Amino acid sequence: MQAVTTIAEVREQVKAWRREGLTVGLVPTMGFLHEGHKSLIVRAAAENDRVVVSDFVNPTQFGPTEDLESYPRDFERDCKLCEEAGAALVFHPEPSEMYAPNACTYVNMDELTHELCGLTRPIHFRGVCTVVSKLFHIVCPDRAYFGQKDAQQLAVIRRMVRDLNFDIQIVGCPIIREEDGLAKSSRNTYLSAEERTAALCLSRAVFAGQKMVEAGERDAKTVLDAMRAIIEAEPLAKIDYVKMVDFENIVQIEKIENVPVLCAMAVYIGKTRLIDNFIYDPAEDAGCGCGCSGDSCCCCGA
Ligand code: AMP
Repeated sequence: MQAVTTIAEVREQVKAWRREGLTVGLVPTMGFLHEGHKSLIVRAAAENDRVVVSDFVNPTQFGPTEDLESYPRDFERDCKLCEEAGAALVFHPEPSEMYAPNACTYVNMDELTHELCGLTRPIHFRGVCTVVSKLFHIVCPDRAYFGQKDAQQLAVIRRMVRDLNFDIQIVGCPIIREEDGLAKSSRNTYLSAEERTAALCLSRAVFAGQKMVEAGERDAKTVLDAMRAIIEAEPLAKIDYVKMVDFENIVQIEKIENVPVLCAMAVYIGKTRLIDNFIYDPAEDAGCGCGCSGDSCCCCGA
């Protein structure tokens, strides 16, 4: 496995693979990799001849008061994980390689990005769409892999790819959790022992909400109230949002009808903001219910 830092090196390698007729998968990450990232890389390696992992803490998706400086980093450990998972190349650029000092072009989305995380993080999705577009242009992959953990991001990327005609298949992958239910996240490292225990209120609320919906509850408020009550019972937790939206358009809904829904939350545990969610598709009650389009399901991989 190679680790490179320049755009030119990535392009040269990908062109060489293309000349051999090989397919390429891309897994964009911000590093400090864990089993959640690994699941994306393993899936990409199973479905493509070569896998590129980008390992870049993207400054344009962080707001001025957010954790850009303190975001955890361990490139050596990341390289080991990538190699074990089957990546062929890790792209680890400096911010100056990705953004010229006078860069002023962004990819902005009018809809989908003003709800959920977009309300608390107003420039976040502009940064995500911009860096993912740049990575798509640099790597030109056949497929790109994203986790359902960041479900709004997955919906936003699917919309961007459709709207801007990227010839890339977007593959969504299920949320990987710790044994006790907490969704794996690089930010879990910020939690003290006491906060780590408190953080379980997110997955408890997700599982409870999902169970209610699977048992037939169709009223969003009833489900959300039950989920909020679980989180509010935890003294260290402060809700940013707990909402139910139409998964494709990220617009709030009152009733679950016949389109896939995303039930998503962001919760502060102390100073750390964590997210979690479940997706439900009434049309696929027997299946995983994510309702994603494309060749493979973003939750169960079917
Ligand atoms: P990040 O490094 O946090 O930007 O995440 C890079 C990719 O890994 C995104 O597509 C995330 O959705 C995905 N990811 C992060 N955590 C998980 C997880 N626990 N399970 C599955 N995918 C994840």
